[in-house]
Amino acid sequence: MTFRLQIVTPDGLAFEGEAEKVSVRTMEGEIGILARHIDYVSPLGMGEAVITDAEGKERRAACIGGMVAVHNGNVRLVATTFEWAEDIDLERAKAAEKRARDIMAKPDINDRDLKLAEAKLHRALVRQAVHRGL
Ligand code: ATP
Repeated sequence: MTFRLQIVTPDGLAFEGEAEKVSVRTMEGEIGILARHIDYVSPLGMGEAVITDAEGKERRAACIGGMVAVHNGNVRLVATTFEWAEDIDLERAKAAEKRARDIMAKPDINDRDLKLAEAKLHRALVRQAVHRGL
């Protein structure tokens, strides 16, 4: 049994179609959504999203920030950033990791910059992990 899935980012539509299952990392932990799920809204965390399409084929992506909502059986991921595993630029994610670590190593770093750098590091590590899982 499938449901209608729409994945949108500020760049546009990343996916629209029927899906059998979608697994995402929310702020509360991993959630797997199947057809006929009750209405639901949750903020997204940073992690791997796995979409099982109508043919049963799994596609993986790095899904960072935003919201997931189920309404009348339709599922919408409104993600701050969403990249399919095959679209992830590994060198870019490694460079982002290095920049984040360099900032975090500064002895005079303030709390705000530390938090931003930690979030940047987390994004870079999620992207590398999703890319490596190819
Ligand atoms: P960077 O410093 O490389 O920009 P970042 O974590 O600060 O990394 P984001 O602000 O999360 O980047 O994303 C900015 C845009 O670039 C988004 O559209 C995101 O999908 C894309 N993006 C970021 N990193 C990658 C990557 N490694 N591969 C592909 N797309 C990426």
